[in-house]
Amino acid sequence: MRKTPKRKGRYVMGPFRGERVWLKDTSIRPRKITTRERAWLIRGLNSLRTGAYVGTHAINLDLGTNPPPGPPVDPQPYLDQIDKLIVVKKCRCGQKNCYTVTFRQSHLGRSVGLVMHYTEDDRRLIICVNNKSRELSELEII
Ligand SMILES: [Zn+2]
Repeated sequence: MRKTPKRKGRYVMGPFRGERVWLKDTSIRPRKITTRERAWLIRGLNSLRTGAYVGTHAINLDLGTNPPPGPPVDPQPYLDQIDKLIVVKKCRCGQKNCYTVTFRQSHLGRSVGLVMHYTEDDRRLIICVNNKSRELSELEII
């Protein structure tokens, strides 16, 4: 008989009524996103519309030019998820400028880059998504 490896973590009550959330990192409480996180997500996701999500702010120092925008992507399916996001992990790398949070996932899958944009104060704004379910999985501000 095959033994299932024991998963690290436990279920705790989430920020939405009657919903339990699996937490790997039990040192934090699952919570809704903050106003600031919401603003970052909206800013980043809106770059899908313009094509600037591919990091058009990067510069080729030899040519002195920026990369061209990518093909436009409809941000609506991602914007629609914002109200339901639950933060289950916060990065503790200790880097002064790092602000990274991980969102609860209801499906297995891999976190892949969706948006490579920048904040108003010119930090990198990266949004990742679950490649199977297309759920927003991570917000990184570096
Ligand atoms: Zn970090």
